[in-house]
Amino acid sequence: MTKRLYERDAYCREFTATVVSCEQDGEVYRVVLDQTAFFPEGGGQAADEGTLNGEAVQDVQLKDGEVVHTVSAPLAVGSTVHGCLNWPLRFERMQSHAGEHIVSGVVHRLFGYDNVGFHMSEALMTVDFNGPLSAEDLETVEREANAAVWQNAAITVSFPTPEEQATLTYRSKLENIDDLRLVTMEGIDCCACCAPHPARTGEIGLVKIVDSIPYKGGTRITMLAGKHALADYAALNRVNKSLMKLLSAPREAVAEAVNRHVEAEQTLRAENQQLLKRVALCELKPIAVNGSVMAATADIGFDEMRYCANTLMENDTKACVLLSAVGEGYLYVAAGDAAVVKAVVTLLNTQFGGKGGGKPNYAQGKVPSKSAEELLAAVEALL
Ligand SMILES: [Zn+2]
Repeated sequence: MTKRLYERDAYCREFTATVVSCEQDGEVYRVVLDQTAFFPEGGGQAADEGTLNGEAVQDVQLKDGEVVHTVSAPLAVGSTVHGCLNWPLRFERMQSHAGEHIVSGVVHRLFGYDNVGFHMSEALMTVDFNGPLSAEDLETVEREANAAVWQNAAITVSFPTPEEQATLTYRSKLENIDDLRLVTMEGIDCCACCAPHPARTGEIGLVKIVDSIPYKGGTRITMLAGKHALADYAALNRVNKSLMKLLSAPREAVAEAVNRHVEAEQTLRAENQQLLKRVALCELKPIAVNGSVMAATADIGFDEMRYCANTLMENDTKACVLLSAVGEGYLYVAAGDAAVVKAVVTLLNTQFGGKGGGKPNYAQGKVPSKSAEELLAAVEALL
């Protein structure tokens, strides 16, 4: 069995080992060593990265109790190799994983919920709890978790026997297993876990819960710890600074300033729509036909056409038919007398291949490319 150096010494970042086996597997080689500091993927944490004799280790997996390293070149069985971890990456993951332990421990202590799902991406982590947590609850959790970080409590690893396990209280309770590994944060949390953790909670640096959603009757939180939490803060601060500049707003009042801009934009948009309608009406040249009116214009939409039709209908007009050249065809609006509206819609849809309809006193639609003259002549004949 490979001696798992990472289980007892999370800070072991360089080691020498003897190659126990090396098997070709397609284009790669699977290597087992007599001991290793490479943590294999597990417990929600990705496999360590680094090198063996200077060559990149592509993957590390636990298979039948053995730690299997994937490399691109063969290593002679019996030879000595030098292993070197990508330590900055490993340490970030130790910070993140220990941050998750603290948060899960606090949630368990305050609310009695269990961590029932854990995923670590390169920066963000998601943790699923089997109970509801409000935004206020999570503020409390975050505060308590960071207080636990600042306590700088010792984090220790132990391997209790099945008899000892029966007397212990810890999270992720696994029944009487021989190689149970407990990670204890003194006075804060105790949890069964296979991953490497820092020696003291202070090394986690910072714990930040960034989001939460209801999930499967419980709560899924998104969180960051350590270097990633600081990087996130720096990124958000950069965004805030550019917004402060754009909005000429003080640091704490960016949201308020954005809100003012959104409201102003809504007012301007409403005013603009109103102006567009009035301009459309001014540019319209209605032609009177038997107590009704018709007109052809261009580049106005249904909102403006409806406004024009309604306005034209105010002077005892029987019906109003409007056309607006848009792209490859004409939008049409027919308003007023129900019989006229129905006749116009039938005319434009059946004789000119249009599509549209509406209510008895108002209809709208579209007619494919035809000349305005031809359409107006047909409408005039109908009116
Ligand atoms: Zn863990």
